[in-house]
Amino acid sequence: MNAIQEVNPPCPRCESQAAALMHQGIDNGERVWSIWHCTRCAFTWRDSEPPASIDLRKRAAWSQLKGVDLTQLRQVILPSDTPR
Ligand SMILES: [Zn+2]
Repeated sequence: MNAIQEVNPPCPRCESQAAALMHQGIDNGERVWSIWHCTRCAFTWRDSEPPASIDLRKRAAWSQLKGVDLTQLRQVILPSDTPR
């Protein structure tokens, strides 16, 4: 398993420093994984996921959002408060 992160990691998708710690898995009093949520792009990940999912250098380029204006992305599912 990867070393435990002691500081908030950058988001694997948008590379912002907006990750918030959401949950931790505890085994025998020791933290074994953490779940992070990016408050900028809403990506959520567990730090024990495979590198292809959470390593900035190994994720597919098409899935990255660094520098992207998120307000300009097409919404597949409209927010519930959107007028029809
Ligand atoms: Zn993000």
